[in-house]
Amino acid sequence: MKVRNKYDYLIVGAGPFGSAFARTVTDAGKTCLVIDKRHHVAGNAYTKRISGIDVHMYGAHIFHTDSERIWRFVNEFSQWRPFKNNPKAIVGGRVFSFPINLMTLHQLWGVTTPAEAQMRLRQEQVPIKEPRNAEEWLLSQVGKDIYELFFYGYTKKQWQKDPKELPASIVRRLPFRLTYDDSYFHAKYQAVPARGYTVLFEQMLSGIPADLGVNFFDISQTWRRFARTLVFTGPIDRFFGYSRGRLEYRSLRFEFETHRGDFQGHAVFNYPDESIPYLRSVEHKHFLPSDPKHFDTSDGMEETVVSYDYPLSDLDDVNCEDPQYPIRDERNTRVYREYAELAKRDPDVLFGGRLGEYQYYDIDQAIGSAISKARRHMDRCI
Ligand code: UDP
Repeated sequence: MKVRNKYDYLIVGAGPFGSAFARTVTDAGKTCLVIDKRHHVAGNAYTKRISGIDVHMYGAHIFHTDSERIWRFVNEFSQWRPFKNNPKAIVGGRVFSFPINLMTLHQLWGVTTPAEAQMRLRQEQVPIKEPRNAEEWLLSQVGKDIYELFFYGYTKKQWQKDPKELPASIVRRLPFRLTYDDSYFHAKYQAVPARGYTVLFEQMLSGIPADLGVNFFDISQTWRRFARTLVFTGPIDRFFGYSRGRLEYRSLRFEFETHRGDFQGHAVFNYPDESIPYLRSVEHKHFLPSDPKHFDTSDGMEETVVSYDYPLSDLDDVNCEDPQYPIRDERNTRVYREYAELAKRDPDVLFGGRLGEYQYYDIDQAIGSAISKARRHMDRCI
């Protein structure tokens, strides 16, 4: 990598955090260089156009936010199409409404009204005053049957840990409703970018120098030659040479298939059964159900792309390659705090995003956090 200039910021990672940070400082008149070890922008939200379909290459990403500020920000770079995420769960070969709502309870127990569901649920809930982990929280909320059918296998597959060993926060993300509302998110704005996330982040980075395919760790000794401030969105433990121990991450790998016609009739299916090796199947054209080119062709046999999310079981693979989910249990949280303390020692280095802050951020949260951190940093440096 050539030194072209001394920039105000060197931003490592062209994902949601890095891109939003870069845009914010650039719009405020600062200079920055963005690098990413991958050969594309958008981080794990990356979409690739295959057979005219924007395929989510690292699993389904549905944007959702209640924040007017963040919604306005992302609308500067892309048009959006409303998308309500309501995956179906396949359990024992049967299709259930998901996340758990009155329709799921109807399918399971035959109850039809909120009052009937509430009554049945009270019999199912295990009285646990202060749930200490994901299992206890689920037992106290939904009882043993629902826990075992919909959560135990999925959680164990995804995190490669027993739900007893995981914090409740991991599953508290999911709604649980006694109405027929089956929306995964509660947010005011729920959408996907009309031309995919790659175009969204390319537009966000428009006019900003970006070197893709550059690994920060190849230049880590000399980064101060490039910029005054470093913004690092990779794994914080790797940045510090694992000096306080390794943080654990989980990750997924994806298998893709191309078929003709409509393969599964819906965007996302979840597979909680332990006997099924994957977690989700995703048919990508269903993210744009109103797009006539995918659904209204004369013979109805246009191409369709389906992907399967497989959990990665080897933690070492995960640490080397593309970690995706931080595991914020007690031990990892303690180790992370030590890294966060180390991070405070150098005011020229900022950490951000899922891996830099070891937070289970969604895209909107990563973007919101980047905008705030960038503004705070610029205010401090005036
Ligand atoms: N989960 C589950 N069954 C499902 C879907 C989710 O048990 O069918 C649990 C699982 O532990 C998962 C967590 O809920 O890690 C959060 O799910 P979410 O869909 O938010 O995960 P992400 O979209 O980040 O992969």
